[in-house]
Amino acid sequence: MCGIVGYTGQKQAYPILIDGLKKLEYRGYDSAGVALHLGNHLAVYKKQGKVAALKEYAGDHPVASTTGIGHTRWATHGEPSDRNAHPHYSASGNIAMIHNGIIENYAQLKDELVSKGYTFNSDTDSEVLLNFIEDIKRNNECSLEEAVRVALKRVTGAYVILLIDTEHPDTIIAARKGSPLVIGVGKGEHFLGSDASPMLAYTKEVVYINDYELAIVRPDELILKNLGNERITPFVQKLDLELAAIEKGNYDHFMLKEIHEQPKTILDSLRGRLNAEQGYITLSGLNKIEEKLRNANRIVIVACGTSWHAGLIGEYLIEELCRLNVEVEYASEFRYRNPIISPQDVIIAISQSGETADTLVALENAKKQGAAIFGIVNVVGSSIARITDAGAYTHAGPEIGVASTKAFTAQVAVLQLFALKLAQLRGTIGDSLFQHLLHELEAIPAKVEWILDNQVEAIKAIARRYRDADNFLYLGRGYNFPIALEGALKLKEITYIHAEGYPAAEMKHGPIALVDEKLPVVFVATKDIYHEKIVSNIQEINARKGKVVAVVSEGDETVNELAEAVMVVPQAHEIVAPLLSVIPLQLLAYYIGVERDLDVDKPRNLAKSVTVE
Ligand code: GLU
Repeated sequence: MCGIVGYTGQKQAYPILIDGLKKLEYRGYDSAGVALHLGNHLAVYKKQGKVAALKEYAGDHPVASTTGIGHTRWATHGEPSDRNAHPHYSASGNIAMIHNGIIENYAQLKDELVSKGYTFNSDTDSEVLLNFIEDIKRNNECSLEEAVRVALKRVTGAYVILLIDTEHPDTIIAARKGSPLVIGVGKGEHFLGSDASPMLAYTKEVVYINDYELAIVRPDELILKNLGNERITPFVQKLDLELAAIEKGNYDHFMLKEIHEQPKTILDSLRGRLNAEQGYITLSGLNKIEEKLRNANRIVIVACGTSWHAGLIGEYLIEELCRLNVEVEYASEFRYRNPIISPQDVIIAISQSGETADTLVALENAKKQGAAIFGIVNVVGSSIARITDAGAYTHAGPEIGVASTKAFTAQVAVLQLFALKLAQLRGTIGDSLFQHLLHELEAIPAKVEWILDNQVEAIKAIARRYRDADNFLYLGRGYNFPIALEGALKLKEITYIHAEGYPAAEMKHGPIALVDEKLPVVFVATKDIYHEKIVSNIQEINARKGKVVAVVSEGDETVNELAEAVMVVPQAHEIVAPLLSVIPLQLLAYYIGVERDLDVDKPRNLAKSVTVE
């Protein structure tokens, strides 16, 4: 949450910062702002709303400057407004700072500062930290770098901070704990960002900054230190990412582009791992903890949001194929409720960004108790990827639409590989089923392609028909139950229509009371062992005049006749079918969002990469 960007070099900083903020806007869009160095003073421009509003306010080239910092906010402390927008000036006006994260002990620090006579121009925790730093600098008569170091030792919470000050015209000071920070190394210039997208057009040499590190960044110099003031050698890595991957291309929205990328991204997540022809799976990450997995008592899957739905599918897969007990936990609950974890447990952490704050801390806790951690993460080099014992990247490429689509299917594909491989290791799957499922999985990308080629018009028509509904119900059984949850979540996120996902049979225990002639009920009713039962559930809704919309397998005449509208997916084994049945539901949410004229890439109140608790 929140995007930060910085530049120091020979070029004009402002256009680079604005462009970088646009690329990071998926992380928050409550306000945007930049601070620029102007020799002996600093200029701050900031505005509530999206980066476009900032640009309109500040213009194309407000001032000439080659050093600056920028921020796009996801508000935690203080409403979205001009005054709470970052960057903040320190009390003297000599320092400007941006912050991503939460300073948990800000109230205590603020009390101390208020008793010394400080006043504040915003309600943010960030401005408190900035004045705390300035206060230390003044009292200790030390450099800004030293003051930052001293201050951060007293701070609890999470942060990336970037600071510029009047005394050092070309210097940016940066520090991180718990929120991401990447520094791009160019010729006579450096770039800073929450991820690498702002710097991709200029350099592919990057340094990922670790927790408790502090960087002093100048055009020709990158000094890295720990909070003990010891120098650390920066580890420069080459980025394996193309600019096209973070641009919309010909699509109207990133979300649509990412939905359409799924034949390729699912293939990428299987590539080099699945060999159906020769009948084997290679998952080197799994081999690293093979012994632990063979002897595991249980697996605990820890995730949030859409990743949690992928985790539920993982539970069904691993229990069915590997005969191993699995629990799926919301990371935010798991980390605080003192769960019982033993060294015989294996934790699977699922996160698109690899920065999800709750998941990260949950893992740190589990690790202390001796559990092995396996990560299923999209962003290479992210914090979660780095603290796991082993893992498998999902290889979905950058996901920029705030509502997750391609990252979800890549997570499910990796979980399928994981479950199949583990079942083989544990001897819980027969060879013919194993071989059959490898072929089924291999066939998925082409089947996803078929849906995208053949169903979009039908789904657009359904979107037009139901776009004014106030509520939706999504129902599914077995592997399609998590898909019903995911379909409902997508609809909520993108269209602001209230939706609930339920196991189809549970509906009789409450939600059926909601059914009337106005309620669309989306059944995920592909051909599987529950098919007859779900047909009965559809009848039950029809009997109460609900409007049945169904995701059906090709050739399913029964549901076709019972439903008002259908979205068709190719036939597939039920174990791999979730990868197909979710696609029409992503498209449905997308097109209803478009029908309602909403900004589907930036739904209100949401942000990607949830780096706050
Ligand atoms: N806690 C800070 C605020 O509310 C920073 C939030 C962010 O990461 O965008 O302004």
